[in-house]
Amino acid sequence: MSSPLTPGQLVTLAPGIRRLVAPNPGVFTGPGTNTYLIGHKRVAILDPGPAISAHIEALVAVTRGVEVVAVAVTHTHIDHSPAAAPLAQALGVPTIGRVARFATGQDPSFAPDRIALDGFCLSTDAGDLLAIGTPGHASNHVCWHHPQAAILYTGDHILGTTSPVIQPPDGDMAEYLRALDALARLPDLTLAPAHGPLLPHSHGVIAALIEHRLQRERRVVTSVQENGPIGLDALVLRVYSDVDPALHAIARYSLEAHLLKLQADRRVICVHGQWSAS
Ligand SMILES: [Zn+2]
Repeated sequence: MSSPLTPGQLVTLAPGIRRLVAPNPGVFTGPGTNTYLIGHKRVAILDPGPAISAHIEALVAVTRGVEVVAVAVTHTHIDHSPAAAPLAQALGVPTIGRVARFATGQDPSFAPDRIALDGFCLSTDAGDLLAIGTPGHASNHVCWHHPQAAILYTGDHILGTTSPVIQPPDGDMAEYLRALDALARLPDLTLAPAHGPLLPHSHGVIAALIEHRLQRERRVVTSVQENGPIGLDALVLRVYSDVDPALHAIARYSLEAHLLKLQADRRVICVHGQWSAS
């Protein structure tokens, strides 16, 4: 299962499933965005990544002479979809995905030719890919289920070593947890995230991720009870004291997402930016 995550190196992960890592390593992207090629003769390309010409040219080169059915995306953050339009145009195929509720932080160039509604099917010679709406990290996030390979392509909804940032207003913690619950009801699958290696045993991974989020939520509630009324800047220091302060600016987004969920649950209230237990 552990294959190198080297940008530009095409790796076969399973029969009919290949991964090409885009050359965009970074804090949010790890080694780079994973672009998956599913199928050999009838190929779907998933998450083509940022519009980096070397990456687009490499994808065109590896699919030369075969039928590409579509360029699909899991969501439209800028490390996932900007290559979709130029790649689809070069290949003469449609783009598939959804449009986000809020434009902030999204790739403005993405306009799907077809909307990946729940159950939307992309047919490849390695089996069908079925769309499952999983809002939370992004309102338009879609995971792609590949039953024949027992794989779920999870985009940024489930990542390997880090828990995805939930950034309101497009990111929504309640939706995120509901979507995780729904994925936990699928059979036990191998997860293929958009950053990092394959993750075996979805049931264990998802259970741990839900527990991690709920643990953080409990910490938010306790910190607000003990210190409220309290603002986000002071609260992030208490709730994320176990996290590198360099990451607190990012953690602040997820903290806000937790608070908005707790507010909807009537467990906390916010007055003039100060949070208290209700
Ligand atoms: Zn993302």
